Amino acid sequence: MKFQPVASHFINGLYTEDATGTAIDVIYPATGEVIAQLHSATPRIVEQALSSAKVAQKQWAAMSGVERGRILRRAADIIRIRNYDLSVLETHDTGKPIQETTVADASAGADLLEYFGGLAGTLTGEHIPLPNGDFAYTVREPLGVCVGIGAWNYPTQIACAKAAPALACGNAMIFKPSETTPLSALKLAEIFREAGVPNGVFNVVQGYGDVGAALVADDRVAKVSLTGSLSTGRKVYAAAAGGMKHVTMELGGKSPLIVFDDADLDSAVSGAIIGNFYSSGQICSNGTRVFVQKGIKSAFLERLLARVANAKVGDPMDPEVNFGPMISERQMKIVKSYIAKGREEGARLVCGGRQLDRPGFYLEPTVFAEVTDGMSIAREEIFGPVMSVLDFDTEEEVVTRANATEFGLAAGVFTKELTRAHRVAKGFEAGTCYVNTYNLAPAEAPFGGSKLSGVGRENSKLAINHFSEMKTVYISMNVLQAPY
Ligand code: NAD
Repeated sequence: MKFQPVASHFINGLYTEDATGTAIDVIYPATGEVIAQLHSATPRIVEQALSSAKVAQKQWAAMSGVERGRILRRAADIIRIRNYDLSVLETHDTGKPIQETTVADASAGADLLEYFGGLAGTLTGEHIPLPNGDFAYTVREPLGVCVGIGAWNYPTQIACAKAAPALACGNAMIFKPSETTPLSALKLAEIFREAGVPNGVFNVVQGYGDVGAALVADDRVAKVSLTGSLSTGRKVYAAAAGGMKHVTMELGGKSPLIVFDDADLDSAVSGAIIGNFYSSGQICSNGTRVFVQKGIKSAFLERLLARVANAKVGDPMDPEVNFGPMISERQMKIVKSYIAKGREEGARLVCGGRQLDRPGFYLEPTVFAEVTDGMSIAREEIFGPVMSVLDFDTEEEVVTRANATEFGLAAGVFTKELTRAHRVAKGFEAGTCYVNTYNLAPAEAPFGGSKLSGVGRENSKLAINHFSEMKTVYISMNVLQAPY
């Protein structure tokens, strides 16, 4: 098998196997063929990962931030040099077109390592003057051993979004990729080793949910950062609470994208396409509820359909292809059931809706119009290429409807009116808002959810606060008095 790794896990600088663990078949979504076979971690593997991380973290934290940063930036350079090979691997792991993976996966991971590598040497505390010459100072300290648990849609990027700030702050990380996409994190571990990250500082442990749960439950773990669904988030958050562990939760969404009738039509259509069909719709922040003001509804739909008809669906390794398969048969079935519900509940299917007659897990890009707020396709996260177009009349009405969801990951507005853009952005109940663009998540800007979409933020300087804590040291310059 072409993509078979040396072994399933990477612990203490070495590939490690325990073939008694439950089998994990890695399936190429474009063909359905098994491209690698791994094993879920046994308790022995989990123990090795935890004990080596615990020891290695102290050594890593003792290095200066500048040294740690240099190593992370070296890892970023290696990723960029190997971008094409890493992208081929990511395409086989996820089914995403090579046209996407060469620009949005390993390279986004490199950006994160470069950004947090740059910050590593700047992490300081502060001096706090107090009365009578006394003072306090703060020391920014790592949390210790952190666990990262990934989803399957952006395996390399998610691993880097967690590892880069964790390692910059002097933590060790045990990363458990999604069982659906286990391959690229192993390559990242190899690259870290090559760049000079000490053995044990970044360990990769494969497995199903039970392996994630075992890691979260261990007393040696100080922090858990999960990217996944709301239901997993609830379990992991609850398990972490027992040990009062720090958490970051990057969960699901059902984000609104509002198009006012003064919007630049082509930009708005681009936003709707990027926000629904990139990565075959498998993006947490997607703007899957597209509210279109009634005055431009028919022009919007006409333009949208013309452009969706140009999507090049096919072999993800073909550089011309821009729409690939879904990640798995299971996910495709879930999405098909939502398409059936959309029809049953009275939405108008304007394009797509069918599985393609070819091997692999291909669904057409699908658009429903005349969707109303109560329909399942307008309320629940589908995580596939299904866009719901809803009509609206006024700004006040649409902002209220946009916010009428338990989720709050992202939101977007297309309009040329400056004051309205800012008003609507202020009104959104969402962690990340876009004006005349959609779905950007650069390393420099905070990313994360409000309401049930999550806790904490990734990317940006804010992530540093989620992977470190402040120790306060009080210094007296005076003789200490007591009442008796
Ligand atoms: P999932 O919740 O099924 O799995 C996520 C990870 O959690 C996997 O690695 C899984 O093995 C692990 N896991 C499952 N049960 C566990 C448990 N009890 N304890 C510890 N770990 C456990 O999610 P998925 O299907 O892989 O990904 C899709 C979901 O992820 C969608 O809801 C999507 O919106 C969300 N997502 C969010 C973001 C974000 O940044 N907010 C990004 C990508 C995906």
